[in-house]
Amino acid sequence: MISIQGKGVSTGVAIGPLYYYQRAKSTIVRTTVADTEAEWQRFKAAQEKAIEQLGELAEKARVEAGDEAALLFETHQMMAEDLDYEESIEGMIKDDQMNAEAAVIDTAAVFADMFAQMDDAYMQARAADVKDVSNRIISVLTGAVQGGINSPVPVILAADDLAPSETVQLDKSKILGFVTEGGSGSSHTAILARTMGIPAIIGVGDQMKPEFEGREVIIDGSTGHVIVDADEDTKKYMMEKRAEQIRVRKMLEELKGKENVTLDGRTMRVYCNIGSPEDVSAVLSNDGGGVGLFRSEFLYLNCDDYPSEDYQFEAYKKALSDMGGKEVIIRTLDIGADKQIGYFNMPHEENPALGNRALRICLNRPEIFKTQLRALYRASAYGKLGIMFPMVTSVWEVKEAKKMCEVVKKELTAEGIPYSDEVELGIMIETPAAVLMSDRLAKIVDFFSCGTNDLTQYKLACDRQNNDLGRFFNPHHPAVLRALKMVCDNAHKNGVWVGICGELGADLELTETFLSIGIDELSVSPRSVLPLRQKIRSINLGEVKDKVLEALLTDEISV
Ligand code: PEP
Ligand code: MG
Repeated sequence: MISIQGKGVSTGVAIGPLYYYQRAKSTIVRTTVADTEAEWQRFKAAQEKAIEQLGELAEKARVEAGDEAALLFETHQMMAEDLDYEESIEGMIKDDQMNAEAAVIDTAAVFADMFAQMDDAYMQARAADVKDVSNRIISVLTGAVQGGINSPVPVILAADDLAPSETVQLDKSKILGFVTEGGSGSSHTAILARTMGIPAIIGVGDQMKPEFEGREVIIDGSTGHVIVDADEDTKKYMMEKRAEQIRVRKMLEELKGKENVTLDGRTMRVYCNIGSPEDVSAVLSNDGGGVGLFRSEFLYLNCDDYPSEDYQFEAYKKALSDMGGKEVIIRTLDIGADKQIGYFNMPHEENPALGNRALRICLNRPEIFKTQLRALYRASAYGKLGIMFPMVTSVWEVKEAKKMCEVVKKELTAEGIPYSDEVELGIMIETPAAVLMSDRLAKIVDFFSCGTNDLTQYKLACDRQNNDLGRFFNPHHPAVLRALKMVCDNAHKNGVWVGICGELGADLELTETFLSIGIDELSVSPRSVLPLRQKIRSINLGEVKDKVLEALLTDEISV
C-alpha cells in the first residue's frame, strides 16, 4: 500500500483504476529524408486520415449541436486539402528533403502568420484553424494519442496539471476523481471539479508515479489523501467513510424546499455557479435558488473557433428556460490569465493575470463583445436574465459596456427580435480599484457580485494559481473581509444588492460574517447549497452580529 498526501479541493471519496491523462506530443523531430516520394506518400496518407477524422467530428457535432457546429469541422476539412497548403508541404518535402512532420509545422507557421497579418478579424481567426488542422495531421503522423481518456471503465484521472480547456473537453462520465501533480485550490480546474461534484486532489508532486497506472486507487477529497493498492483495513475504512458521506447527503436532502433563513428571520439567497447549460440539472436537483454565476467563457473554451451568436443564444436560452423563471446571471466572457484560448491569438504576456483579460478584451474587441451581448439579450426573452461584467476597475469601463448593451437593444428592436426589458446589469467586484470605487459604481449598476478568488489574489498580491503560496493566499484575511464590508455598505446606500460568487461563498466558517456585513446572495457550487442552507438555518444573527463586526474592525480575526 502506498500513501500519498496532496491537497483536497473537491470533497468525496472515490475508488477506481488510475489513468494518466494522454496529451498529444508536441515535440517534432526534424530529419532529412532520402526517399522524398515515400515521405510525400506518408504525408498524403496522414492527410487523408485527418480529413476522415474531421468528417466524423462534423457528423457528431451535427447530431449534438446542429449544422453550424458541424460547419467548423467541414471548414477544417477544406483547409487540410487546400492546394496552396498542400503545395507548400510538397515543396518542403520534395525540394528541401524535410520530413513530413517538419514540413507540416513549418507550413502551418507560414500560413498562420499570413492570416494573422490580415486586417479582417475573421481572417485573422483562421490562423488558429490552420494550426489546429496541422496539429491533427501531425498527431496522425506521429501516432500520438489526442488528449482524453481511452478507457472502457471510469477512472481516477491523474495528470501533471490540467488546463481549463482540457478539463471541459473530458468525457465526465469516465471520471471518478482527479489527482494532479500541480494546480491550486482556486484554479479553474478545481472549480470545475467542485461544480461537477467530482472528488479532486491537487499538488501531489512527484509522489504520483507513471507505474501506478492501472492500479486501484482511493482518493479522499476532504483530506487530500491518495492511496494506491490499499490494504483490506484501509479499504474498509474508506468505504465506510464514503457510505457516511452518502448518509449525510441523504440527511441534507430533507432541507430541500426549505428556506435559507436564520433562526431570527434573516434570509439569504443561495444561488449556484455553473459553467454550461448542462449544469442546470445539478442546480435544480440541489434546490439552488438561481444561477449567480454562469461562467460563459467555458462555452468559448469548448469550441475550436469563436462561438457564433446563434450557438451562444441556444446555450443561454437553454439555461434560462431550464431554470424555469428562476434568475440566471451570466457573466460575459472572462478569458485571459489561466483561461487561454488558442483562436483568440493573444500575444504572449509577462503578467497575464494583470493583462488583457475579461472585460478588457471585450472593450478592445467590440465585435466579440457585441456578438455575445446580442445572444444574451435574445435569450433574455426566455427567462429572468442578469448580465455581469468581470474584472472591472473603472467607472468608464462599465459605462462603455452599458453603452454596448444599448446599441444591441436598439439593433434588436429594429430587427423586430424580442428581448426582456428587465435584464439586471451588474459587475463583479474583483479588484481593489472596484472596491474603492464601489460608491460610484453602485450608482450605475443593479448589483455587485464579489469574485473573492480574484479579489483575494489582487488584494493580497498573491497568485491564485501558485500552490506554493499556500498560507499566504488567505481569503479570510481582514483586508478581504473589510473590502467585502465596504462594498456592502456602499451598495446598500445606493439600493444595490451584493452577492459573493467566489469560492469563499461556500466557506461555512464565514457564513456568520457574510450575514453580519449584509451580503444578500451567495453563489456556490450546486453541491454546496444544502450544507450552506443547514448552516444559515442554525445561526441566530442577532446574537453574533455585533461580535463579528467588532472582530472585523479590531483585527481579532487571525491574519
Ligand atoms: C472570482 O474571481 O472569484 C470569480 C468568481 O471568477 P473566476 O474564479 O472565474 O475568476
Ligand atoms: Mg474572477
